[in-house]
Amino acid sequence: MKLQFFGAARTVTGTKHLITTQRGTRILLDCGLFQGINTDDLNQDFRFNAAEVDYLILSHAHIDHAGLIPRLVRQGFNGPIYCTPATVDLCRIMLLDSAHIQQKDLERVNKRRERQGRPLLDILYEASDVERALERMKPVNYGETFWLNHDEVGVLLTDTAHLLGSAAVSLTVRETDTNGETVEKRVFFSGDIGRPHDKILKMPEPFPQADYILCESTYGDKLHEPEPDMRAHLLRIVHETCVVRGGKLIIPAFAVDRTQELIYALDQLANHGDLPRLNVYIDSPMAVKATHLMKEHDECFNPEILSYIEKDGDAFAFPNLHYVSDVEDSKAINTRDEPCIIISSSGMAEAGRIKHHIKNNIEDSRCTVLIVGYCGPETLGGALKRGDAEVKIFGETYQVRADVEVMDSFSAHGDYREMLDFLSCQNPALVKRIFLVHGEYDRQVVFRQKLQSAGYQNVSIPSLYESVDL
Ligand SMILES: [Zn+2]
Repeated sequence: MKLQFFGAARTVTGTKHLITTQRGTRILLDCGLFQGINTDDLNQDFRFNAAEVDYLILSHAHIDHAGLIPRLVRQGFNGPIYCTPATVDLCRIMLLDSAHIQQKDLERVNKRRERQGRPLLDILYEASDVERALERMKPVNYGETFWLNHDEVGVLLTDTAHLLGSAAVSLTVRETDTNGETVEKRVFFSGDIGRPHDKILKMPEPFPQADYILCESTYGDKLHEPEPDMRAHLLRIVHETCVVRGGKLIIPAFAVDRTQELIYALDQLANHGDLPRLNVYIDSPMAVKATHLMKEHDECFNPEILSYIEKDGDAFAFPNLHYVSDVEDSKAINTRDEPCIIISSSGMAEAGRIKHHIKNNIEDSRCTVLIVGYCGPETLGGALKRGDAEVKIFGETYQVRADVEVMDSFSAHGDYREMLDFLSCQNPALVKRIFLVHGEYDRQVVFRQKLQSAGYQNVSIPSLYESVDL
C-alpha cells in the first residue's frame, strides 16, 4: 500500500494522510484546514482528486483536522465519513462556524490580492457544503471494529482524550503476498494525543500493536509544567476583581472544551460555597451549543465528573449562571454596572462578542481580563498576554488599565513524556516505522531522538506531499 502526506507534514495544521491499498481503495485520514499566514493556496488545491477518495476517517472535530471536509465534498467526494458520535455533533457547530469565517476571510484576502494584481481565490466552501458533509457522517463507537470494502480494511477507533469524541485510528489492511496468501498490515494513526487526568475526559486508551505508526509530535521537545490548582487560582482572581474592586472578570475562551472546563470549575466552587454571589455569563452562541452537546456525550466523561454529576445533577449549571445566545441579551450585559464574570469567545479575542466586552472594560482599573489559553502573538489576546500598555480594538486605541492575568497551565496536547506513555502499549521492536506528523520540524527532530532511545529504530519525518510504500 501507499501512504502520502498531504498536510501536517513538518507543521501543525492541515492534517490529511492518504492511504491507497493494494486493491486501490483510497482512505483519507482527516481532512484538516491549513491555518496561519500564507496558507490560502495550500487550502485551495488538495493535490489529489477528491472524487477518487473512497472513505474518510476523522480523528476529531478540530478545524486543523476536519476543516476542509466540506471542500472535499464540494469537489466530488461521495463516500462515507466515519468518526465518533460526539465528533459528528461537534462538527455540526464547528464546520458551520468555519464556513462563516471562510466567507469573511475570503473577502479580506481577495481585497489584498486585487491590490497586488494576483488572481482572486474561490470560496473554500459554503454552509450548503457543510450540510452535505454532515449527511455523509456515520457515527461509530470507540472499541467497535468495522470493515471497509468487503473485509479488506478493518477500522477501530480508540479514545485519545484530546477533545470530546477524539479518536486514534487503528487500520488492519489485508493484502495478498507473492505466494497468493493473505497478509495483514496494521497502520495506526494517533490523531491528537490528549493528556492523562483531563478534568472532564477519560484517560487516553491503549491500542493494538501496529506495524506502522503515524504519530503527532506537537510538543515533541517539551515537558508541561505541573498543573497548579486551577480552582484556587480562579477563585483568587474572582475575589480580587469582583469582591475587592467591584469589577468585571472577563475571560476569552474557546467555545469548545476550555469554556466547559471553566464552567465546571465554577460549578464546583459554587457547590462548596466558595463562589461569591455574582452573575456569571456564558456569552457565546457557540459555547452555549457546545455545552449542551457535551452534556449529551457523557460516554466520553471520566469517573470523577460522572460521580460529581450523580450528586450535583449537572456539572454545567449553578445559581446565577446565565447562558446567553441572543445578541440583545449580550449587549444588555454591558449596560449593567455590576461585578460579574463574563466568559466569551473567541479564545484569542480576535473575533466575536469578547472583543466588545474587552473594549468596554479595558480602561476600567476595577476589571480583569483573564487569558486561559494559547493566543497568537498578533492577536488581541496575544497583545494583552504580552503586557502591551495600549491595544487597538475595532480601529481605536485603548489604554490597558484593567488587570491582565494569565492562567494557561492547560494544554490539550500531551508533552513528550505523555506521548511516550501513550505509545507504551507497543512493543517497539515490532514497529517497522514511525512517521512523525503534526509538529514543527525542530521539535520533531528532538522527539525522534526520544523515540529512538525508547527503542523505535526507524523514525521518519515526512515532508509535504511525500509518498512512501508500506
Ligand atoms: Zn486537535
